[in-house]
Amino acid sequence: MDIISQNQQMFPVVPIRDGIVYPGTEMILTFGRSRSVSAIEAAQASGKRVVLAMQKNPNVNDPTPTDLFTTATVGEIVQMMKNEGEINALVRGIAKVEIVSFEAVEPFFVARVIPKEDIVEENDDVKALTRHITGELRRAVNLGKSMDFLTFMNIMSGVGSLQLSYQIAGIIDIKPGERQELLEINSVRERLEKEIVYLAHEIKILEIEKKIASKTQEKFDKNVREQVLRERMKTIEKELGEDGDNKETKELADKIKKAGMPEEVRVKAEKELSRLGQMSQYNPESSYVRTYLDWLVELPWAVATANDVVIKTAESILDEDHYGLTKIKERILEYLAVMKLRAAAQKQEEMESKEIPVIPQESVPGQTESIKVSDTLVRKAKSAPTILCFVGPPGVGKTSIGKSIARSIGRKFVKMSLGGIRDEAEIRGHRRTYVGALPGRIIQGIKQAGTKNPVFMLDEIDKVGNDFRGDPSAALLEALDPEQNYAFSDHYLDVPFDLSDVFFITTCNILDTIPPALRDRLEIIHFPGYTEEEKFHIVRDFIMEKQREIHGIPKGVVSLTSQTFFTIIRRYTREAGVRSLEREIAKLYRKVAKKIAEKNGKGVGKLPLSPKDLHQYLGPYRFSSYLAEKTDAVGMSTGLAWTEAGGVILFIETALMPGKGSLLLTGQLGDVMKESGHAALSWMRSKWRELGLDEKFFGKLDVHIHVPEGAVPKDGPSAGIAITTSLVSAVTGIPIHRTIAMTGEVTLRGRVLEIGGVKEKVIAAHRAGIRTIILPKDNKKDLEDIPKSVTKDLSFHFVEHMDEVLKIALTKPLPVRKVRSLPTMRPSLHLNA
Ligand code: ADP
Repeated sequence: MDIISQNQQMFPVVPIRDGIVYPGTEMILTFGRSRSVSAIEAAQASGKRVVLAMQKNPNVNDPTPTDLFTTATVGEIVQMMKNEGEINALVRGIAKVEIVSFEAVEPFFVARVIPKEDIVEENDDVKALTRHITGELRRAVNLGKSMDFLTFMNIMSGVGSLQLSYQIAGIIDIKPGERQELLEINSVRERLEKEIVYLAHEIKILEIEKKIASKTQEKFDKNVREQVLRERMKTIEKELGEDGDNKETKELADKIKKAGMPEEVRVKAEKELSRLGQMSQYNPESSYVRTYLDWLVELPWAVATANDVVIKTAESILDEDHYGLTKIKERILEYLAVMKLRAAAQKQEEMESKEIPVIPQESVPGQTESIKVSDTLVRKAKSAPTILCFVGPPGVGKTSIGKSIARSIGRKFVKMSLGGIRDEAEIRGHRRTYVGALPGRIIQGIKQAGTKNPVFMLDEIDKVGNDFRGDPSAALLEALDPEQNYAFSDHYLDVPFDLSDVFFITTCNILDTIPPALRDRLEIIHFPGYTEEEKFHIVRDFIMEKQREIHGIPKGVVSLTSQTFFTIIRRYTREAGVRSLEREIAKLYRKVAKKIAEKNGKGVGKLPLSPKDLHQYLGPYRFSSYLAEKTDAVGMSTGLAWTEAGGVILFIETALMPGKGSLLLTGQLGDVMKESGHAALSWMRSKWRELGLDEKFFGKLDVHIHVPEGAVPKDGPSAGIAITTSLVSAVTGIPIHRTIAMTGEVTLRGRVLEIGGVKEKVIAAHRAGIRTIILPKDNKKDLEDIPKSVTKDLSFHFVEHMDEVLKIALTKPLPVRKVRSLPTMRPSLHLNA
């Protein structure tokens, strides 16, 4: 600093737009402004020293003294070069100064300066700071910070803290204002501390940059790699004469031609194909278009199986596959006959459209009838009156009858379950704009069938829900309705598909939940469930053979006595259909298969199985006999109910306890059933006198009515008479005949009203070993539908009033009571009998 204070105190000044030459650092500067050029030239001519002062605003072109910061450095011109009016000079910072005043402005600024000393401390804090900052600098350089190699080496070799603070200030990446601030700080420690913060920030940015750079590099590498590979593949394909794009387009064009699409669809397909041709292979949309075209070409627009609706053949096939179900088979044959006649009536009209290719039908043995209905005729069977709907519990043969229908009329069979569908798009597809869009289940089924006239079974239509995503049943109706389904519009396909050739069959467990508009269109066929006798025939004559083949057991190895079959039916299954029964037989055959395999296929001889062998094959009995508690009990009646799984028998129990006249109903009962409970109680209370009860009996009691097997929800009014009987028995102490089952709604006045599901209930009662049934009189007509094999074992009582029920169901007549004191009360029919 002596240099300045002693020799000169006035120097030419050069304004610098945005940089500082700190003491002890060097920088190459370019001077273009005339004032600056003159100042440098003047300095060069005298002591080579200039004051380098930063502008407060770098954008000011012609700064005045007030535009300059007053804390500046005195620099020495080490080297300079003049080039076309500009000067490039290597300047070294000498000392920090404060400009006291400007002595001249033209032709360049001249300032009077005084030196500004820095405060240098030499203690551990500063040492630590210097060590830390050099370490951080090394880290920054490792992360890619660019800096002059010599400066870096100089810093690393160890310089004093003052020197270090200026060196670092010169190389860190900060704003001009911050640079000036660093210069103005007088404490070296403070300067170093500030620099550490700046450097840390810079390191953070360098780290992020590095991460981005490596990711970009990776992506870039991958893209380049793919590009190169694709190009190579193209070259190879070209060499082999297979140009991928062209080949695919050609194939698709070919398929479109052969698909037999209607004109409108073909035009659409070709348009999409040409769009695909123009698209780059790498355009993500191209794969969507390709998938769409694949769907279009793969749909059986014109593929149909030949139809030979031969009623006799159909009949023999239905009989061949199924035991019993006589009425159902008859209904189906009638339906086929109508379909056939309608088709025949349109024969002439349809002969023109003969070009449809026809898949030869599998030969059907025993085909004798000569009337043949061509495919094109059945096409107009869209005028078939309604759609078949098979209603019944699981395992009663709905699906397998559907399959037989397909076989008997030589069509393909597909089945789609609609259970749990809530979204319209499941039926009708998603629009193509939707990511991952696909056609709906109807079109998927058609594709699966591979023909345009399959027998299409829509399973569980009673389980179709509806919510904010649209109403699937409306879409379903459109697909099923012969009036509109010749142009069914699937959102994905976006072109109509003719479903009028499809033979739709729907199935469900109950009818109640099917929307009325859809139900109107259905021709309902009830599958009531099987009797034990029927199950016996089905298992012996059909299921055994089927399961034997599935399990690969040789013929004649396993034989079951009739008694064994009945034991399986009664003790291992409890169902309306034969599904569990089939599972049990499968289990039995699995065990046999294991036995055979263990003997290395040497044979196990014959295995005649009697009931006592069943434990070994099927485990312990799963069900006790229904009427296990054979004794007639007080307060326990046998009711009949109808559920989705078919008819069942219910036991209704009533218990009385001291209390205040409250009624408790348990066993997962629905509202209607609970109301029956209340009505039963009211009727009984109104009959206190005839029932031999104390006038105030009810006020001292609590009544609890329970219907066991609580896991099964129960509802409906039809348990009315059973509940009432149970109550009466409980309060009178007269037991109920356990083997008498009853069903019927009861009014407050004791009238017994008609109920539904009689057929299922009666079959269930028969299955459970019940031999006497009480039914409402108005249900007498329903007995016609019940198989003779069931009715012959049963005796029926048809009743109109609760009094008659009690007379039959209770083991003893009600006690005779005098009715003198209540002249208004009608004497009950049976009481004096
Ligand atoms: P669902 O569709 O009604 O639930 P399935 O058609 O699946 O019932 O029938 C279950 C099994 O019982 C099938 O293997 C079927 O072949 C058999 N089955 C049902 N009813 C009969 C019958 N009447 N004759 C012969 N097999 C039957």
